Amino acid sequence: MSFCIAIDGPAGAGKSTIARKLAARLCLVYVDTGAMYRAMAYHLLRKGTDFTDQAQISADCQDADISIAYDNGEQIVLLNGENVNPYLRSEAVSEKASVSSTNGDVRKRLVLLQQKLAEHTDLIMDGRDIGTCVLPGAQLKIYLTASASTRAKRRYLELTQKGVNCDLNEIEREINERDYRDMHREISPLRKADDAVEVDTSDMTIDQVVSQIMEMALKKRKAG
Ligand code: C5P
Repeated sequence: MSFCIAIDGPAGAGKSTIARKLAARLCLVYVDTGAMYRAMAYHLLRKGTDFTDQAQISADCQDADISIAYDNGEQIVLLNGENVNPYLRSEAVSEKASVSSTNGDVRKRLVLLQQKLAEHTDLIMDGRDIGTCVLPGAQLKIYLTASASTRAKRRYLELTQKGVNCDLNEIEREINERDYRDMHREISPLRKADDAVEVDTSDMTIDQVVSQIMEMALKKRKAG
C-alpha cells in the first residue's frame, strides 16, 4: 500500500504552499485536487453551462477528460489534452469551481481519478474531502485552518504583490461565501475527519507549520 498524507481545509489556510514543501522534503508526489475542480469549472465556463442548472452541469461534465502530468515537479492539469494551468487562478474560476464542485457527477469523476493516482504512488494530496472521502485510509490526515481575516489578509498581500488592485473586505466576503458553500454542500462537505489532526496556522510561519507536520509524517512513516 502506498504512503499517503491528506491535507484538507478552507481556502487560504496555506494547504498548497505547505503541501508542496512537505512533498519536496518527504519525496512524495504532490496532488492539488482543487486544480482539478478548477479545470472542470473552466471547461463548463467555456461551454457556456448554466451553473444554476445541476442537470446541465451533470451532462456537460461528461466530455471533460481531466488528467494530470508533472513538469519539473509542477503539477499540470490537462483538460482534453490541453494544459489549462494558466486559466485556473482567476476569480471567476475560483467562484464557479465552488459551485460546480457541489455536483455529484463532477465529484464522482474527479474522486475516481484521485483514488487511482493514490493506488501505487506515495503522495500528499490536498483538498476539502481527502481525509473524509477520497483517501479515508491515509496514514496521516491534517486539517489546516486559519481565521477568515488571516486568510483574507494573506490573499490580499499575494494579489497586491502581483500588482492586482483589490479590496480586503471584498476578499474576506468572497472567502466566507466560498467556505459556507464548501461546508454546507450535500455531498462531501468540508469537515475535519475524526482522525485528522487540526493545525491552526493563524499565528504560525510557513516553516513552523512544515516542521510540525514533518515530525508527524516521519513518525507515521517509521511506524508503517
Ligand atoms: O483548493 P482550491 O481553492 O483550489 O479549490 C477550488 C474549489 O474546488 C473549492 O472552493 C472547492 O469548492 C472545490 N474542491 C472540492 N474538493 C476538493 C478540492 C477542491 O470541492 N477536494
